[in-house]
Amino acid sequence: MNLAREAIELLGQVAQILWFEGTKHGMRDREWMALRFLSRANRFSRTPSALASYVGTTRGTASFIIGELERLGYLERKRSAKDKRSVMLSVTLQGKKFLARDPVNGLVEAIAVLEEDSKIRLRDILRHVLDQADAAEQRHHTDVCKRCIFLREDRTSSENKTAEFTCRLFRAPIAETEVDLLCTSYEHHRQ
Ligand code: SF4
Repeated sequence: MNLAREAIELLGQVAQILWFEGTKHGMRDREWMALRFLSRANRFSRTPSALASYVGTTRGTASFIIGELERLGYLERKRSAKDKRSVMLSVTLQGKKFLARDPVNGLVEAIAVLEEDSKIRLRDILRHVLDQADAAEQRHHTDVCKRCIFLREDRTSSENKTAEFTCRLFRAPIAETEVDLLCTSYEHHRQ
């Protein structure tokens, strides 16, 4: 139990690097979180409501964050061609470049130098912790599409060896390049 508590105390201190007072490179922690998320989110999650859910805030606060990122030239919103009431958010090229100054890059680099096995174990341990918290608190965390219970692999073409997928929740095709992207509607397999 002591080791578990020690690990959580360390995680809490890592969180202090993610959540900070004031601004870094002109942006607050929530704006950094939003830009980071939108650069990795799939098309179903690049919406104001999905952003609000990911950041853990109200729609009003999410709109404010979106407005700030737009004002800085890091984000643009487009009306959906299918449904004019829906908005799709996209990180601009300038926004992608600005992510090179993300305050969490130091943490990413500290993990990147670990052995491959250690990186996989660290990622899997964090997932285990989140999966357990989801089960205990009746919630679900955001994760990559390829682990989701709603993803169905349809077939693998023998000619070009590319897999084809369908999302059973959104009833939409998913390209192989999209399965590593983040989705706020992700649902993990429960034992
Ligand atoms: S399969 Fe799951 S993670 Fe992927 S788009 Fe559908 S709901 Fe999201």
